[in-house]
Amino acid sequence: MQSKFATAPALTSHLPMAKEPNKGTDFITNTLTEPVTQAEAALRPLSFSDFTGQAKTVERLQVMVGAAKKRGEALNHILFSGPPGLGKTTLAFILGNELGRNVRVTSGPVIEKAGDLAGLLTNLEEGDILFIDEIHRIQKTVEEYLYSAMEDFRLDIMIDQGPNARSVRLSIPRFTLIGATTRSGLLTAPLRSRFTLQTRLDYYDAKLLTHIVHRSCGLLKVQIDDAGAKEIATRARGTPRIVNNLINFVRDFAQERADGRITKPVAAAALELLEIDAAGLDEMDKRMLRVIADNYQGGPVGMSTIAVAVGEEAETLEEVHEPYLIQEGYLQRTSQGRVITPKGYAAIGLKAATGDQQSLL
Ligand code: ADP
Repeated sequence: MQSKFATAPALTSHLPMAKEPNKGTDFITNTLTEPVTQAEAALRPLSFSDFTGQAKTVERLQVMVGAAKKRGEALNHILFSGPPGLGKTTLAFILGNELGRNVRVTSGPVIEKAGDLAGLLTNLEEGDILFIDEIHRIQKTVEEYLYSAMEDFRLDIMIDQGPNARSVRLSIPRFTLIGATTRSGLLTAPLRSRFTLQTRLDYYDAKLLTHIVHRSCGLLKVQIDDAGAKEIATRARGTPRIVNNLINFVRDFAQERADGRITKPVAAAALELLEIDAAGLDEMDKRMLRVIADNYQGGPVGMSTIAVAVGEEAETLEEVHEPYLIQEGYLQRTSQGRVITPKGYAAIGLKAATGDQQSLL
């Protein structure tokens, strides 16, 4: 099964972001920025029927797959956006599976020059899917070649330099580009407009995540009761990848400190040990909130300042931590910078300063 989706090793890249601080202690950051492990890949749903949630996106994709199959054509290009760990890569593989096509995986920063892109595209077969993760990080020069590849299935590549320079036209098979991005705002308009479907993946609610917890535990043959599953789901900040990694840790904890079964108290104690609180916030989330509250009187403060204060890359904070804090109302993003909300103050055990208090300061 797996060989059908053979991916050239040099191309397979879920590049971890350039960061070193907090390694090993920050479970959520590591889960969302490090490469997908084999154990995790084993939990990946392979068909739409096995994929939980994202109902609107799934329905749109099913319509496109049905039509492409009936016409015997390649699927139109698709752009998935949304925070890491929500299922963008998983959906690309499901599309390949449903269409019976190969999926080649690469990542924006890995394609350094037009020649790399040409190599990738000319090796595709008719109808194959090329999945480009982090497509917002693709080089501008390479991006321009992508336009004609996506639109006309050809590439005009310059070879040689100086007086010998000449342009060579390569035709490429009709393929489907699936782009994934955590920062759709950084995509250029010309690239964005070449995707027939642009669809955003949202955080999962606790009910859907509970279902995913049961599914993963079933596959891993881990015993878990409903309250235990709910406990993991509510602390997984809406993200299936976090669910799966939490299950791995809670399973170890249950084996070492209990009778192997995951119950609510077992899950709660394990997650306490990981410093993930009842709302799913981890140390880094709280550190961000504390910096804004304590050092900048609640904000507004710029992300680069917060990043320096907490010792983490601004990019990681923006892609991994901030979207959830904003979605859940702990943080607000204004034109002047980030501002902590009353809910944010409560999360770090403080009360929001009232208007009167603020004016006294
Ligand atoms: P992304 O590409 O958005 O970062 P992935 O597709 O790699 O996220 O998903 C991370 C992991 O989460 C996958 O390995 C898969 O096991 C799990 N997962 C994602 N979405 C779902 C879902 N809807 N149902 C079950 N598991 C899921």
